[in-house]
Amino acid sequence: VQVLTQFDTIAAISTPIGEGGISIVRLSGEEAIKIANKVFKGADLTKVPTHTIHYGHIIDPKTNKVIDESMVSVMRGPKTFTREDIVEINCHGGIVVTNDILQLLLANGARMADPGEYTKRAFMNGRIDLTQAESVMDIVRAKTDKSREVAMNQLAGGLMEKIKAMRQELLDTMAQEEVNIDYPEYDMDDMTGKEMKDKALSVSAKIDQLLKTAQEGKIMRNGLATAIVGRPNVGKSSLLNYLTQDDKAIVTDVAGTTRDTLEEYVSVKGVPLKLIDTAGIHHTEDKVEKIGVERSKKAVESADLVLLLLDSSRQLSTEDQNLLRFTENKKRIIILNKSDLGTKVSQSMITKLTDSPIVVTSILQKENLDQLEKAIEKLFFSGIENSANQVMVTNQRQAGLLQKAKRSLAEVINGVDSAMPLDLVQIDLKDAWDTLGEITGESAPDELITELFSQFCLGK
Ligand code: GDP
Ligand code: ZN
Repeated sequence: VQVLTQFDTIAAISTPIGEGGISIVRLSGEEAIKIANKVFKGADLTKVPTHTIHYGHIIDPKTNKVIDESMVSVMRGPKTFTREDIVEINCHGGIVVTNDILQLLLANGARMADPGEYTKRAFMNGRIDLTQAESVMDIVRAKTDKSREVAMNQLAGGLMEKIKAMRQELLDTMAQEEVNIDYPEYDMDDMTGKEMKDKALSVSAKIDQLLKTAQEGKIMRNGLATAIVGRPNVGKSSLLNYLTQDDKAIVTDVAGTTRDTLEEYVSVKGVPLKLIDTAGIHHTEDKVEKIGVERSKKAVESADLVLLLLDSSRQLSTEDQNLLRFTENKKRIIILNKSDLGTKVSQSMITKLTDSPIVVTSILQKENLDQLEKAIEKLFFSGIENSANQVMVTNQRQAGLLQKAKRSLAEVINGVDSAMPLDLVQIDLKDAWDTLGEITGESAPDELITELFSQFCLGK
């Protein structure tokens, strides 16, 4: 048996650093209550019932100096997030005081938590699986209410349930094949082979369903990288202003993450858009033409969505034609702007050139902007009735493993079709089963788990 050093008592500030009324310092581990009790005057925390909150003062036991007035919650394991004893100290004295309290706890036997360590413990102690752990991170970083709902659904175990069911199907089939190996005299190879193939096909189809959600899942998580392009004066800045007006702008202050560049996020009908290099794009007209073109090329390359503006009141220019061609393989919406000034370029003219959705607007007169928003929503949530209730693959790790499992299942199908010995086919079946287990963490290697949790914020 390994010595579980992970069960020492950890402490961290678990609310976003910054202004704000109340912050919480959280302790988790065997000694959580004992350590909190050393610095708390108001009640004997070692004696109070579980899941209760107590009023008192945080006092440095060495100097008897009062540091803050506070409410302290005591929650004994296993009915806690980490399954360990947890104490939460609600302080209201601002960041300096909060830090002092944290230091005091460290001086009295707690260790500073690593990023994501609470969530890691919840995982290690069997409280949640990896997809749920990842959703904790998603909730923290959620950009719109819709993204948060998707993450909450994940936390409730939506994806885990699906993966578990698929693994069970594969396991049943593997068991069947084991029986086969043990009792060769019954010669059930044909039947077992068919069963293996059927299951591989069925699980593979389920994986496809999940992979279809990966695109939406990625958007919910990271925002839809959006480039606004068009020739000078077509209305890019005006559109940008519309999109970034107060009620749509998303505050990007994410606790515990550092960002070199300030990314601008806006919410369009619950779809988080990440506007790419907006300053660069909408001021290209002020720069040497070549730099402008280079910049918008870069922006378009990294975009999930291109909003291409054309001036409906003027003939298409060569530059417009170039932009149309240059963005034709992207998910895009073509905006025929300045409709109030007349129609030299009509919707039907553009329809002849492309299948991309077209919206006719006057950004100046705020006409049809709702239609534009609906077009954005539709482009990414078509076929999904209620994305919040949908189980989604929200990250590249999950999607990559699903693809890998699918490849193993394809080998199973191949193997059966080419009459390969079933104990060899079984190896691929087992691979698929293992790979699916990596998604939930049931068969994930330690390094992966460490790597994964290191992406978390402090205090979570
Ligand atoms: P940009 O150069 O592409 O960023 O274009 P701007 O957003 O700076 O717009 C250039 C000019 O066109 C400004 O004077 C805007 O007020 C005007 N403009 C933008 N949209 C419309 C529109 O729908 N109708 C009309 N008439 N003018 C517009
Ligand atoms: Zn501009």
